[in-house]
Amino acid sequence: MDVKHRHRRPRGCRGLLLKFVGLPVSRSAQRQRTWFRTLLSKKLDNIQRINDTPILLQNIVFLLRQSVWPGVNYYLRALAPLVSIPPIRSFQTKIHALLRKHLRLTVRELQAVLSQLQLPLRLSGLGFPDLTTIAPIAFGASVVTALEDISDTDLHVISAAVAGLSNLNFINPSDRKGSDREYLASLVKHENVQKTISKYYHTRIFKELSHHSSELVQARLRSLRVRGSALWLSSLPTSPRLTISDLHYRNAIRIRLGLLPTGVRASQQCRTCHRGVTFAEDPNHWLGCSGLSGSALTTRHNSINKLLLRLCTEKDLQCIYEPQFPEAHTRPDLSFDSAAGISYISDARITHPCGRTVVRHAAHTTKYAATRVENGKHRHHADLVAASHTILLPAAWETFGAIGDEALNLLRIIRDQPLQHGSSPDEHTLKFYQQLASVALQIGNSRVIASARMLHNKQLRRDARLRRPIRTRKPRLRH
Ligand SMILES: [Zn+2]
Repeated sequence: MDVKHRHRRPRGCRGLLLKFVGLPVSRSAQRQRTWFRTLLSKKLDNIQRINDTPILLQNIVFLLRQSVWPGVNYYLRALAPLVSIPPIRSFQTKIHALLRKHLRLTVRELQAVLSQLQLPLRLSGLGFPDLTTIAPIAFGASVVTALEDISDTDLHVISAAVAGLSNLNFINPSDRKGSDREYLASLVKHENVQKTISKYYHTRIFKELSHHSSELVQARLRSLRVRGSALWLSSLPTSPRLTISDLHYRNAIRIRLGLLPTGVRASQQCRTCHRGVTFAEDPNHWLGCSGLSGSALTTRHNSINKLLLRLCTEKDLQCIYEPQFPEAHTRPDLSFDSAAGISYISDARITHPCGRTVVRHAAHTTKYAATRVENGKHRHHADLVAASHTILLPAAWETFGAIGDEALNLLRIIRDQPLQHGSSPDEHTLKFYQQLASVALQIGNSRVIASARMLHNKQLRRDARLRRPIRTRKPRLRH
């Protein structure tokens, strides 16, 4: 772009909108598009540079979501959808191809999960909103904000904003009254127009996705919506405790998106529990497979307990791992005394909301599986609590990351203990504790998948050997 062009400020409303975000672009739509295309290609070059650097997948996905997407959104606020959509479509396709390569997804798999991938984290997605939908929302919201300053000579800007927003049906077309300007003026009442319309649009997509799905998918999506269940996705590997290897990260993403474990076919039956469950029935069956209790599932359970133990130790609390109570027949995972002298016992469990016994309820009730486990723990340890005068804090997590109410309470109690000399207050917040648990849980899930796949394949090979006809060797004739 030449210097003369760069310094020419467009007049009127467009000038106001461009000034709003500080874009040095021309009034001509063609030039604006060329300018935007150049800008996006520079962005792609930068992304390619990151791509060529050996950094963790955890960092790459975080960077794309937290930096590239908001960066592009910034420009979409001042460019009419007709100008921005063609370049943004090709940009988005390239980023999707990049994500597909890093996450090792097939083209078909990406297409199958695209709607979920485009939802925000709080709505069970991966936080990559569809930019071709964001473009009209961002531009429309800017026009609404600058509406009072738009003169009648710039009516085409208003028409462009209304045309983009109308397709989203944010306001029912039959309820629309008055001119285009009046329609936009009716949106001014919303505090943050872009946020409000995006939220409306994404909630609608989530409901469509959930409504047309099986109970199993509904249970997964509902669990993923619980506040804090996506904390591992917004964690940066700033310490070993928050670092997720690429292999674990990919497995965790597949679990979140409801994709089959790699190397497994939907028609195959689980060979680790022999209950005749196929992966078409539940792609995440291994996360709660009874054939893995006592091995991979116990290792995952222990990793959460070790984390709780470490948090107590960091607060210098008197704690015992798997304490014995001679007066009772049950044994909890952990006991500790608070600084105020109150004795607590804790028993943790990770539960799968898509399990056969709970899926029907988990599809319609948030945190059903976790609450059921926590209530069960109270019944299980009733005698122990009565005999030992302690307070029981059951701690349940759902496999997809949702934390039970009582588990949250346990973390809160540990957090409220006095801080030890030399320890950082940043590492003793409720959010940080939840983040650690979220990362530990997803790594645990990935290990369950890896271990189950090994057992499953071993069993398949054994079955194939048994099916092979036994060859009888012909007796050799001796001369
Ligand atoms: Zn199984």
